[in-house]
Amino acid sequence: MIKLKYYPHDLKFSEVFAVSSNARTSTEVIYVELEYQGNTGYGEASFPPYMKEKRDDNLLYLSKLNFGAFNSPFQLHEIYHYLDSISDENTPAKAAIDIALHDLMGKVSGLPVNKLLGLESNKYIYTSFTIGIGEDDFILRQLNKAKEFKTIKVKLGGDILYNKHAIEFIQSNSNQNIGVDFNGGLPNKDIAIDMMHWLAKKNILYIEQPLPVALEKDYIFLKAESPLDIYGDESIQNVKDILYKRELFDGVNIKLMKCGGISKAYEQAIVAQSLGLKTMLGCMAEGSCAVSAAANLASMFDRVDLDGHLMMANDFFEGVMIMDGELKLRRLKPTGIEIDDDKNRK
Ligand code: MG
Repeated sequence: MIKLKYYPHDLKFSEVFAVSSNARTSTEVIYVELEYQGNTGYGEASFPPYMKEKRDDNLLYLSKLNFGAFNSPFQLHEIYHYLDSISDENTPAKAAIDIALHDLMGKVSGLPVNKLLGLESNKYIYTSFTIGIGEDDFILRQLNKAKEFKTIKVKLGGDILYNKHAIEFIQSNSNQNIGVDFNGGLPNKDIAIDMMHWLAKKNILYIEQPLPVALEKDYIFLKAESPLDIYGDESIQNVKDILYKRELFDGVNIKLMKCGGISKAYEQAIVAQSLGLKTMLGCMAEGSCAVSAAANLASMFDRVDLDGHLMMANDFFEGVMIMDGELKLRRLKPTGIEIDDDKNRK
């Protein structure tokens, strides 16, 4: 029989994290534990402010669950059906359960999750390092942390003077490749096009969600005019969005918390690729448990942006290690999603 435990936690950022829509010093998560035959599978749900999912609702949802009818974590699809029968929503809580189930399957079988999924790979997989919006001294401190990474993802917003200054300042202090994420911060398509042409001259690799979800119809025009690949993130919350919005973007940013976990992210990557879309594997500002779970899928994706845990000062877990910008899952026994669950736990 599988037994569920869960508890909320506030992850604190080591420095204020600012994007175009907000700045914060901490972020809310829920940790989930599933016990089964002496093993514990761990999962994590995170709650960025822009998503409509709230932690209290997800805690309430978790309080309604009872896994008494299931006698194995390998009953994945029956469990998904049960989770959806309780509520259509609460996607982050479902992601946390899915992560914990995969962790359990790995621990029970003695295999890392990437191998369970048939994704064992010899590829070198590099993640980008994200730099939030801030003053020059903040950017310099972040660049110092980002030294080992091949690619930096720079958060920009609606302030065009700031955007140009930040890119020029970073390029005067670093030779790294740069991608840009506006988090929907540009006010209209004309400003967006000017910004894209300017960024293309600066050899930026790609841009992410330049316009807000409310101006989505303008992405048809942007995609036609843009010299750079445009990835959708806030606009792409589920597999239907990938299907219906495929004409709007060159690529999609897929995250476990948006789609509901490892299985759903795997499915979304396959759907997106079959439609000719480029794929990025992203994460929220979240801890090592959720980021390490996502890392098991990384070999499927064109771009990987799994650095949310690097910003945290009080992460319960130790998980995927990053050396010279390369993702290296820990090789701990038992395996599962390969997190060290002994660190600072309650
Ligand atoms: Mg984004």
